[in-house]
Amino acid sequence: MDAIDYAKSYRPAGLPVQEVKDPLLDGTGVRLLIKRDDLIHEHISGNKWRKLKYNLSEAVQQNHHTILTFGGAYSNHIAATAYACKKAGMESIGIIRGEDDPSNPTLQFARENDMRLVFVSREDYRKLTHPHLPEANTPFLAREEEGSASGAGGELKNRFGRCFIIPEGGANGFGVRGCAEILTEVEEPFDVVCCAAGTGTTLAGLALTLKRDQRLIGFPVLKGGGFLKEDVERLMGESALRPPSTMDYGLSTNYHFGGYAKMKPELMAFINGFTERTGIPLDPIYTGKMMFGIYDMILNKQSVGACRDTPLLKGTTILAIHTGGLQGWMGMKHRGLV
Ligand SMILES: *Cc1c(COP(=O)(O)O)cnc(C)c1O
Repeated sequence: MDAIDYAKSYRPAGLPVQEVKDPLLDGTGVRLLIKRDDLIHEHISGNKWRKLKYNLSEAVQQNHHTILTFGGAYSNHIAATAYACKKAGMESIGIIRGEDDPSNPTLQFARENDMRLVFVSREDYRKLTHPHLPEANTPFLAREEEGSASGAGGELKNRFGRCFIIPEGGANGFGVRGCAEILTEVEEPFDVVCCAAGTGTTLAGLALTLKRDQRLIGFPVLKGGGFLKEDVERLMGESALRPPSTMDYGLSTNYHFGGYAKMKPELMAFINGFTERTGIPLDPIYTGKMMFGIYDMILNKQSVGACRDTPLLKGTTILAIHTGGLQGWMGMKHRGLV
């Protein structure tokens, strides 16, 4: 099966939107829906599939046989890319931040799927991926400098040969295009769509497909996530999709719990309680934080941060995007964080 057939075969039309039935929300007058993109695929879950879809088909169209991408040692994107490339009959190379650890379940999974892993220091990783970001913001990232042989992209091609470079997290215009399909599958009316954010690629795709009177709230999982605003703008531009005439979107930056992959007892208790009451699993790094934020806004009338100065009020229908990421639990266990 080639990558384009593969892309088509996972076209996730009709993925369920379900109502979250939780006694905790009774009496709030807020209706909470969840789009279960975690069910797209066992290994290429949620938005990782969305972001790979057009990257893979573009790679095939350009006659590439090798995908090169980047990620941390527990990255959902690395796991998804390794699996998708193997299925699509393509080679994959993963540039991994940090050192090898053969007992790491994500790296094991990538190896089982024939990804070639190349380990680089944090500093080199940052240079390769996002040279202009300060060290503090663990860079999600990296864009190929179009047409330049001297940028990071050129350097990598010199070293690894001809390859199609996908930025960390699938963060490019093709990734945005895939994410712009999420809301087209939703028939139920809603007022506010909520989504966790790493690189902001998924937010960009959602923002571009908002209808008038709909709002989007992004929940950055990194500390100081306000910087995403600019990234989202740039990613929207890269997609070359036409923005709607009005776009009401903002970031709720208070639910990072200390930063990327940080777990706090309060968050763990919330995730466990949510899953017990609703039967819906959440991941520890992204959707757990988003859902915590949504509940805090509803139950404690927290305002929507930069988005707009109002809490999620009675009469509102919220659509939460379940972006997947459940493999992240293995990594949290492996690190002894849960
Ligand atoms: C990668 C990931 C995200 C972040 O998506 P971006 O498009 O990078 O903002 C959100 N949720 C889950 C489950 C993820 O794995």
